[in-house]
Amino acid sequence: MRLTKRSRLKSVGLVLFGATFYFVFLKRTPDKNTLLDFQRNVGDDNDVLQLDKKNLFDPDHEDESVINAPDALQNVNAGKKVFNEAPMLNKYSHEFYTASELTPWRSKPLPSPSNPGEYGKGYKIDKPSEMESQLIKEGWERHAFNQHICDKISVHRYLGDKRDQECKDRKWRKPLPTTSVIIVFHNEAWCTLLRTVYSVLETSPKVLLKEVILVDDSSTHEDLHEQLEEYVKQLDVVRIIRTPERVGLIRARLIGAEASTGDVLTFLDAHCECATGWLEPLLERIAEDPTRVVCPVIEVIDSDTFAMGITSSRSVQVGILGWSLGFNWAVQKNRPSNQASDDAISSPTMAGGLFSMSRSYFYFLGSYDDQMKVWGGENIEMSLRIWMCGGTLEIHPCSHVGHVFRKRAPYTHPGGTDVITRNNRRVADVWMDEYSEQYYRRVPRARKIDAGDLTERKQLREDLGCKSFAWYLKNIYPDLYAPPKDDIIMAGEWTNEGKSNQYCLDSANPQGSIGLKTTLYVCHGMGGNQDYLLTRQGEIRHNFVKELCLQPDGSSVLTKACVYPQGQVPFSQMWEYTENFQFLHVQTGHCMEAVDMTVLLKPCSSDASQKWHHRELKDSMR
Ligand code: UDP
Ligand code: MN
Repeated sequence: MRLTKRSRLKSVGLVLFGATFYFVFLKRTPDKNTLLDFQRNVGDDNDVLQLDKKNLFDPDHEDESVINAPDALQNVNAGKKVFNEAPMLNKYSHEFYTASELTPWRSKPLPSPSNPGEYGKGYKIDKPSEMESQLIKEGWERHAFNQHICDKISVHRYLGDKRDQECKDRKWRKPLPTTSVIIVFHNEAWCTLLRTVYSVLETSPKVLLKEVILVDDSSTHEDLHEQLEEYVKQLDVVRIIRTPERVGLIRARLIGAEASTGDVLTFLDAHCECATGWLEPLLERIAEDPTRVVCPVIEVIDSDTFAMGITSSRSVQVGILGWSLGFNWAVQKNRPSNQASDDAISSPTMAGGLFSMSRSYFYFLGSYDDQMKVWGGENIEMSLRIWMCGGTLEIHPCSHVGHVFRKRAPYTHPGGTDVITRNNRRVADVWMDEYSEQYYRRVPRARKIDAGDLTERKQLREDLGCKSFAWYLKNIYPDLYAPPKDDIIMAGEWTNEGKSNQYCLDSANPQGSIGLKTTLYVCHGMGGNQDYLLTRQGEIRHNFVKELCLQPDGSSVLTKACVYPQGQVPFSQMWEYTENFQFLHVQTGHCMEAVDMTVLLKPCSSDASQKWHHRELKDSMR
């Protein structure tokens, strides 16, 4: 899944040109409510936080659940496909599951508090022997996490129930749909794979879990062949499917989905741990409205110690995207004061690894773009498709699943980094309309990559009558600001004359962090960390994964959250590009200067180290 506050840029997120530039390529809902009125009716003026507030159980509404129309799944209405499958729950569903009805498939062996990692604690070996150090090193190399520690922790470990009280107190309405849990993997470690499987079996109610499908994407590690097959025989709901060749995460998931039989598809990565009560909230939201795609709160499992905590509902972050199409997390803005701890939260994007979706809605909405390869971009594609084509994407704060976040991918990427850029290009060309330019401006080399045939995906968008990307920006993610063309005075990289114009302004900020110092790095002409816009309002804007503005703090020049267009540009973010090629900070009257490999704010002088020259990005065809 796409990463946390951390580094998704890992894997193929190659470090090109040293430490600074990462290639992070790292239904219209039927406009009117459907017959059954279970769909959201998102008007153009609604904002994101109102979306999940639509009361599906509005007593003033006729009960139309008698018009049970699952067969009318793909009705064609004025040339557009309409999803009008009846929800399983309606306002008359008042029966609740008892605790015993929700007994998991398997019970967890009682934990011994002295076991390593028990209760979600981290485990560390204080003084590893030489042999242990060697094992630890090999584990990191093989899996990009501490496999030795992972092996020491029980595959049945108990996480404790650390959910908010409101979540613990919740009762779940009847009936809920069944789910198939689909876990795809390529050369996963035994300990993480098995702990993922057991955590599903030991937390998912028997009545709700139809099966666990493991899709082995042509792993070469020996233990994942016969040994795994023999092992899972004792776990009767677990099946293994093997792909004929390495097909990548996207196609492996499609293969798993095809083979599954549950009402809802639940995708997990192969290094997850489900916490008590994770499944019911996801399924209830879908039972109320099958056009909801619901993610658990994704908890960080530390890749070194395997510590895993539980986020309180108040601190849950939502998924966002930047113009380079990278995924990121952000705090929920304008959280409604009446939002309860157990209310689902709308999210502009999803991380991708962990989510539940009605199986019929998954196919109705075009499953995945099967022309995307290996990994990357598919989560943004699906997020845009869900919102723009009439669904909702949300995170349920009562559902918690841990995921081991790694700093690099331990597997090969057939096709290299271009694969991710190609996948992203498919997203930009199919879904972003005129805003695709924003992507190309930041990732100019994408223009040269062949995205393959897009006819089918464009047709899908047409058939579903999806809304525009402008609609998405306005209603779902208004913080992703696209400066209008007229506001951009100069965009591209900025070379420093004192450094013979070989070095450029560089954010060294592939994750869009706030408060990082601006630096210098060898100019590479490829945008990313070196792409800055000077606007008519006097800002120096930078957006690789997040919209940021340059703002000094003392003598440092930092990337901070932009104030405009929500408010006036503050003097602290106002710069003037002078006739002498200086960046003059309006509030302090000082100028940006290259000092060694850093950028500092200094009294203005005529020194060449204060002269900055604009250069268009290489390969850019603007
Ligand atoms: N995966 C796969 N085939 C691939 C690449 C990845 O089956 O070619 C699996 C991988 O084993 C994991 C899931 O897809 O279970 C997501 O990949 P990963 O965890 O590396 O992505 P991340 O969570 O780091 O985004
Ligand atoms: Mn993962």
